[in-house]
Amino acid sequence: MAQVLRLDPIRCDGYGVCAVHLPERITLDEWGYPVIEPGPVPERLLSRARRAADACPVLALSLRQAAVAPATTGSRAGIRPARTGA
Ligand code: SF4
Repeated sequence: MAQVLRLDPIRCDGYGVCAVHLPERITLDEWGYPVIEPGPVPERLLSRARRAADACPVLALSLRQAAVAPATTGSRAGIRPARTGA
């Protein structure tokens, strides 16, 4: 299953260790805080993404399974029809 990097911006101290391990997916903004490329991490980068998450000293970065979109059975799935009449 696809995995994504998740950042907890409250915990992040902006030391940039993660960007050193995975510069292909993590860049630093002008204040040194990480900017993570959205979307699933490609298979070939997974071990380095895991290393980047493991290297975070404050556990602000994690590698998780991508959320699966809820299944729909039709274009109006989950939407109740409007009541008509009295
Ligand atoms: S290693 Fe952790 S604390 Fe440092 S910039 Fe990356 S996410 Fe933030």
